Amino acid sequence: MAPLTLRGIEKRFGNTVAVQDLNLQVGDGEFFALLGPSGCGKTTTMRMIAGLEAPSAGRIQIGERDVTGLPPAERNVGMVFQDYALYPHMSVQDNIGYPLKVRGVRGPTYAERVSAVAEQLQLGPLLGRRPGQLSGGQQQRVAVSRAVVHHADVFLFDEPLSNLDAKLRLEARAFLKRLQRELKMTVVYVTHDQVEALALADRLAVMQGGVVQQVGAPLDVYRRPATTFVASFIGNPPMNLLPVTLESAGRWRCGDSLLRPHTPRPDLAGRSLTLGLRPEHLRPDPAGELSGEVLAVEPLGAETILMLKTAGETVAVRLPGEAEPPGSGRVTLQPEWGRAVLFDERGVRL
Ligand code: ATP
Repeated sequence: MAPLTLRGIEKRFGNTVAVQDLNLQVGDGEFFALLGPSGCGKTTTMRMIAGLEAPSAGRIQIGERDVTGLPPAERNVGMVFQDYALYPHMSVQDNIGYPLKVRGVRGPTYAERVSAVAEQLQLGPLLGRRPGQLSGGQQQRVAVSRAVVHHADVFLFDEPLSNLDAKLRLEARAFLKRLQRELKMTVVYVTHDQVEALALADRLAVMQGGVVQQVGAPLDVYRRPATTFVASFIGNPPMNLLPVTLESAGRWRCGDSLLRPHTPRPDLAGRSLTLGLRPEHLRPDPAGELSGEVLAVEPLGAETILMLKTAGETVAVRLPGEAEPPGSGRVTLQPEWGRAVLFDERGVRL
């Protein structure tokens, strides 16, 4: 395995800038997720790392090698696509062994490598079948086997779990993570599913419109989002974003509520900013500072989500499942001030 470095990467398709000034460093043996909404440039980034697309500017390095100008076959990168791209006319065994065949591995070494991987991914009894005779989860394991049978320096996974149902996806997620740890794989994993990225990645990058908004460990990004975009993209329900005007006496006005933050930031007095609070960092309290109108109560079992209207915004509050939620009408909430974040007029964290 090897580290991967992207320096000043840009990709233009005519007038469309798909990726802009991308700088990333993925460590040796690291599980790195590229996360963002549809069209943000994730797949284009993967295709450039794989060599399927040439960057308009910038350099790509795998280990000590500059691979920017190399064709895909010379990069030593393993890939798993969303649709698995298995060969339908070949058996599972031949599908898994294909990367070895094209590299001229034959005879006992070939058979040993294929059966070792099939064993590890629990595909032993299925080696004689064709992809059409497998379940979605089994096809996914064949695609992963085919990627790992050859010892690549870097593995690229492009939404590999999106065709699986919710239960299989959970199992496949745990399985992928274990495999990555066991084989100490350097992985770049593309997803638009923030739960998947948080669950799997050692670090992640959140992209929007071809630009990386933040890179960090999942919980750091969750707790301290760099922008309001990241704040609203990560977390379900997402972070509440409330308009506040900072008054000189250290009070923050938010609709008809007057807030008393622990760190009132007199240096920012007079400015109209955005206050970010996660749904679990607001709790109903008769003496609370923020008042709102109950819109809905959603009992989800393990938790109850309370939806309120305050300062013109819809606010979500996460309560334990067994808590008695307030009824209709007005309620007051107490923010956990130690957890609050403040964003400037451009949506950048202060
Ligand atoms: P999704 O999750 O929907 O796959 P994505 O984040 O992977 O989206 P990309 O496929 O990388 O996004 O696309 C980024 C941008 O580049 C989009 O605006 C897309 O329309 C554009 N784009 C991608 N490939 C091409 C191409 N071959 N020609 C022109 N524009 C392209």
